[in-house]
Amino acid sequence: MKTDEICVVGVGYVGLIQAVGLASFGLKVTCVDLDPAKIDMLRRGVPPIFEAGLEEALRQAIDRGLIGFSTDIAEAAAAPLYFVAVGTPTSERTGNARLDYLEAAVSGIAAVAPPEAVITVKSTVPIGTCAALQARLDRDHPEKLLAIVSNPEFLREGTALHDFFNPERIVIGGASRPARERVRKSYAGFEERGVPVIESDTFTSETIKYAANAFLATKVTFINEISDLVETVGGDIDEVARGIGLDSRIGPQFLKAGPGYGGSCFPKDTLALATIGRRHGVQQQIVETVIRINDSRRFHILKRIEAAMGDKLSGKRVAVLGLAFKADTDDVRDSPAVEIVHALLEEGAAVRSYDPVAKLTVKHRGYRQCETIAAACEGASAVLVATEWGEFRTFDFTAVEEAVERRYIFDMRRIVDIKAPWARRWDIERIGSPLIR
Ligand code: NAD
Repeated sequence: MKTDEICVVGVGYVGLIQAVGLASFGLKVTCVDLDPAKIDMLRRGVPPIFEAGLEEALRQAIDRGLIGFSTDIAEAAAAPLYFVAVGTPTSERTGNARLDYLEAAVSGIAAVAPPEAVITVKSTVPIGTCAALQARLDRDHPEKLLAIVSNPEFLREGTALHDFFNPERIVIGGASRPARERVRKSYAGFEERGVPVIESDTFTSETIKYAANAFLATKVTFINEISDLVETVGGDIDEVARGIGLDSRIGPQFLKAGPGYGGSCFPKDTLALATIGRRHGVQQQIVETVIRINDSRRFHILKRIEAAMGDKLSGKRVAVLGLAFKADTDDVRDSPAVEIVHALLEEGAAVRSYDPVAKLTVKHRGYRQCETIAAACEGASAVLVATEWGEFRTFDFTAVEEAVERRYIFDMRRIVDIKAPWARRWDIERIGSPLIR
């Protein structure tokens, strides 16, 4: 065993970026994942997810002999430092994050890890999880002196590699100082560049992650409520957002009116935080309200489309442009676009979708995924822009004018070029702009 060896357990969106990123520093990384198809692809240098720059970074790591892959933790080289990035999806029963994947991964690691190994939790976990894991390790493997460290992840899908190399802060929580130091050392390059490192207990670091996501979800929800107001009273929501965002106390990010937050993190993490609050008798009222407002947003959108189509979606064909929960990723988990597709199908509409990378496994008689924007728009009575992909910003809808049943666009992302010459020939409604009728 070499002391610079690292093992990353769970190589999805977070773990794979972590593994490839650490390998680029010259560290030797073994990746372990239960999914044999994923490991097989990775061995061949093919990333199982879509992320800018990932394929090249993965190939470089393989060519330099710095990254290896296995489905079995027992087969992987024992390492002094582990990063665990397995999923922590919502439990349908409790609303909290499920810990079964994490507990299984940590037990597997503990069985093969060398003494004094550090097990770093990158997964987003309920407050108190790392302390409970540490207590369990101390009980089950007292002779090994294993240490749990909490090191939450803040990357954004779509810019994940960029975010790995340019973190705004690094949070390291743990009871053991030497263990925290070990993790801190693996990020030494960042610290030399002035990236702030916050060292804390695990309760603090776990709370930082939930509080950060809940705050961002609140910001999104706040601008969406203001956007609803603008739709009714008039005004320009983008200018409102710019006008408040230039205030440095507020900041410009996450002030884009849209279909509500989605993705694999915000919905799950806000729900978990609300559940944790209730469990401890400290109700998180802001977060609970944010969840409620965000959940009802799809209904609001559907009502607007319905109104534009004469109150009847049944039998109409709708083109949905975009499936991913945001641009530049293939991730469709909790995607507003996908929820809208389901809602439209439930209302009896026929749906044709197009997304440059994301794919859905939905099988429904009225649903078809298309390879081009034009094919999705064929016969459509409404074109719905659901994800802010760059190609939808610049698309000239003249190309589909003859193909559609009605020239109507509902822009959930406010990206369609309404000043383009073709736009004069279309009815375009946008979230955050007053109705056209
Ligand atoms: P993911 O579903 O893409 O990847 C998880 C991987 O873990 C899967 O490949 C799965 O096969 C593997 N796995 C599960 N159990 C395992 C086990 N016992 N041993 C080995 N592998 C196992 O998930 P993700 O999106 O990368 O998220 C991982 C964690 O990071 C979650 O807690 C999430 O909340 C958090 N997080 C995600 C993001 C993001 O943008 N995706 C950002 C910050 C934090």
